[in-house]
Amino acid sequence: MRAKTELPLSGRTAIVIGAGLGGLATALRLAARGCKVKVLEQGRTLGGKMNRWQSAGYTFDTGPSLITMPWIFHETFEAANSRLDEHIELVSMRPIMEAVFADGTRFIYSNSIPDWTATLKNLDPRDVDGFYRLMQLGARIYELSKETFLRNVPTAPPDVRSLRALRHFPLRHAWGNYDRVVCAHLKSPYLQQLFNRYPTYVGSSPYASPATLLVIPYIEYAFGGWYVKGGLYKIVEALLRLCDAAGVEVRTSAAVERITVTNGAARGVVLDNGEALPADIVVMNGDAACANTLLGKDEGVDRAQERSMSGVVLLIGVRRRMQSLHHHTVYFSSDYRNEFTDLFERRRFPEEPTVYVSAPSLADRSLAPEDGEALFVMANAPATGEDNWDSQLCELRSRMLGTLRRGGLILNDGDTVTEQISTPRTFAKRYLMPGGAIYGTHSHGWRKAFLRPSNKDKRVRGLYYVGGSTHPGGGTPTVLLSAKITAGLVELHERA
Ligand SMILES: Cc1cc2nc3c(=O)[nH]c(=O)nc-3n(C[C@H](O)[C@H](O)[C@H](O)COP(=O)(O)OP(=O)(O)OC[C@H]3O[C@@H](n4cnc5c(N)ncnc54)[C@H](O)[C@@H]3O)c2cc1C
Repeated sequence: MRAKTELPLSGRTAIVIGAGLGGLATALRLAARGCKVKVLEQGRTLGGKMNRWQSAGYTFDTGPSLITMPWIFHETFEAANSRLDEHIELVSMRPIMEAVFADGTRFIYSNSIPDWTATLKNLDPRDVDGFYRLMQLGARIYELSKETFLRNVPTAPPDVRSLRALRHFPLRHAWGNYDRVVCAHLKSPYLQQLFNRYPTYVGSSPYASPATLLVIPYIEYAFGGWYVKGGLYKIVEALLRLCDAAGVEVRTSAAVERITVTNGAARGVVLDNGEALPADIVVMNGDAACANTLLGKDEGVDRAQERSMSGVVLLIGVRRRMQSLHHHTVYFSSDYRNEFTDLFERRRFPEEPTVYVSAPSLADRSLAPEDGEALFVMANAPATGEDNWDSQLCELRSRMLGTLRRGGLILNDGDTVTEQISTPRTFAKRYLMPGGAIYGTHSHGWRKAFLRPSNKDKRVRGLYYVGGSTHPGGGTPTVLLSAKITAGLVELHERA
């Protein structure tokens, strides 16, 4: 082991603005390089969107309910000189989900090849071949992006390995429109709708995204969806323990109002109470769209048309066991295209929303009392931080529960022990995300999908970005990759 003084960032100090997953992972990676790190979180809780709500004996994850690419989580713990399985237990989710459609059709989307092939045959025999060709396309996009996009900043010149990968890029379909490529491969309207849901994992519409996003269903099918025993918030608790052990100082209720810049270089931050904190390096984990405000440049904060989707989330603790449910169930609307027109063009909550239900307490009894279930119920919503969300709460809830009722899931008020509702406005205020957009900007068109805000500021030396609003994008594994890229850039540019 090298002595501490030999570490590349020894003697350097860093401030991370925000204690989201990306902020904590970056803090750990910088501390492991010898940097003295402070994390400043404006909220009263830590973890950002990966958070927890506990009430009346029920425990809910308020954000992510599913993780993919588990090896990236392992890498994060290893970078902090630890091991993931010493802290948390990852559980593979089988089957992937149950899909329920407006006409009553329902089936299990399984990652068991024989079971899923039988389901495909039943839906439309031509789709057996179509599905595996679609996955092959996703695999090729994955192979290319893992060498280039996912582990590097896009402005970095491609190395020999990525050029070799580029030779195999499936040009015919990959740059086309996502929905069109799905429909060219799958004939069953149910399968088309099921696969068109994947761009929503990055807050985008299937009708406007490039087919490169087929990498998302491929990753889920090939490597599985994963859950953390005790709830995903256990990841945040583990990262906080590692921060503590590494000497990273983490503060709550510490809202950064300004990034101090002298002679073109970041020199620290000023909090909303006037406290000035100096640092050699500043890493912004809050939404990158807010950086200009913190730099005193009042421009481009609310480019509403470019924002990814937000959501309406109901956390419901019910006094009833619901063993016929699956861990993940999606209740689809009858007109998916119209739903996305509502979300992105009319910019309103859909009349008939598709609703996702996660019921982790079915298998993880630590989350609910003996006679109950803890349900996470979510519908997509436009990223508009307007005030009128609060006056629509009853209507939003009733539309979501209406979709569930039509799909056979009846949630009676009499069974509800505890409930919380969050709207785009809640998310916007809670995490300072313009419009409550969960994934920063949307991925419509290949430029938006691939050229996300960079992890290093081009104007201010010593200022870096990490998290879902920056490269390589939103979702927990990509946020952890973002932390790896950002910490690498800091080492490259700031080493003593
Ligand atoms: C409802 C919901 C469901 C989701 N489902 C999934 C899922 O199933 N799977 C998945 O992989 N991902 C999912 N996600 C996305 C995932 O949660 C995010 O991509 C990830 O957690 C974002 O981490 P982050 O580091 O980018 O930042 P954030 O979690 O946004 O954290 C940024 C932090 O910075 C703080 N901050 C901002 N400005 C300031 C300031 N000026 N001063 C101090 N602090 C500041 C904020 O308060 C916040 O805590 C979901 C998100 C939500 C909301």
